[in-house]
Amino acid sequence: MICLGIESTAHTFGIGIVSDKGEILANARDTYKPKLGFGIIPQEAKQHHEMVKEDVLQRALSEAGIRLDEIDLISFSQGPGLPPCLWTGLEFAKKLSKENKKPLIGVNHPIGHIEIGRLTTGARDPVILYVSGGNTQVIAFASGRYRVFGETEDMAIGNALDTFARRVGLPHPGGPEIERLAKRGKYIKLPYVVKGMDLSFSGIITAAEKLFKSGEKLEDICFSLQETCFSMLTEITERAMAHTGKDEVLLAGGVAANKRLTEMLNTMCKDREAKFYSVPMEYSGDNGAMIAWAGILAYKSGQRTKEFKPLSRWRIDEVDIKWM
Ligand code: AMP
Ligand code: MG
Repeated sequence: MICLGIESTAHTFGIGIVSDKGEILANARDTYKPKLGFGIIPQEAKQHHEMVKEDVLQRALSEAGIRLDEIDLISFSQGPGLPPCLWTGLEFAKKLSKENKKPLIGVNHPIGHIEIGRLTTGARDPVILYVSGGNTQVIAFASGRYRVFGETEDMAIGNALDTFARRVGLPHPGGPEIERLAKRGKYIKLPYVVKGMDLSFSGIITAAEKLFKSGEKLEDICFSLQETCFSMLTEITERAMAHTGKDEVLLAGGVAANKRLTEMLNTMCKDREAKFYSVPMEYSGDNGAMIAWAGILAYKSGQRTKEFKPLSRWRIDEVDIKWM
C-alpha cells in the first residue's frame, strides 16, 4: 500500500509519499515566510498553500517516480492547526481522492510527528517531547492512547522564541537566531515557571524583553532564555519518564533542531540510563511524509474518518491508537 499525505496545518504545505513497509518515497514541501516583524498571518499562509500546492504535488510524484493512479490511500492533516490552512489541505485531499477514486483519511498532526519519529529513529515506546511553533507537550502511550503528561499553559516554546526574537528585531524564525547568539552569552536570572507537570513561557518572554530594554546584552539574554526554557522542558520530560517507567525519549517538532536542547536531554537520559532519540532534521519540522505514514497506520488499523471538516483544536488524547 502506498499513501500520499498532505500537511497544511500552519506555515508548511507538504506532500509525502510513503509505503506500508515504511519506505519514504518522497517528502516535498514549501514553507510560507512571514514579512520581517510579523508572525504567521493565517490568511496569508493559506494563500501561500493555495499557490504552491500543485507544484509541491508534482515534485512529490516525480521524487517518488510514481503516478497518482498508483497511490492507494490519501491522508491529510485534519488538525490541530490554523483553520484557513487546514481547509486548503482538506479540499486538496478531497479533490485528489475523488478524481482518483482513492480512500481518504484524516490524520491527527501530532501523531504524525510521533510516528515518523518512531519510524526513522527506531524508538519503540518513548516519552515524547513535542516542541514546535504551535505545540509544547510531553506525551506518552498509556492505556490505548497517546496521553499528554505535561504541556504549556500559554504559548508554545517555538512561538515564545519567535515572539522574543521579533520584539528585539531578529528575523523569523527566531529559534535558530537565538541559538546562534546564545553561543556567546552568559547567564542572567529569568523566572523559571514549572507548575506541576505544566509550563508557562509568556512571563519569561516579558521578563527577557525587559532585560533587553534595560540594556542587557542580547547574547546573554538569548543564552539565559535557552538555559531556562530548556531546563523546564527537560525537567518535566524526566518526571514523565519516572512516572511512566519508560526508558526512551523522543524529541520531535521544529525546535528539535536546537543543539543545546538536544544536549540537555541527552545528559538527562545518560544519567537515567535511558535512550535518547531525536527525529532527523528532514522529518522533525512539519512535513507530508509524517502524515502519509500516520495515514497508513490509522487506515490499516481500521480507523476511518467520520466527518471531513477541519478539527482546529483536535487533541492527540482523543484518538484511539490501535497499532501500538
Ligand atoms: P515547526 O512548527 O515544528 O515546523 O517548527 C518551527 C519552530 O521551530 C519555530 O518556532 C522555530 O523558531 C523553531 N526552531 C527551528 N530551529 C530552531 C533552533 N535551532 N532552535 C530553536 N528553535 C528552532
Ligand atoms: Mg508541527
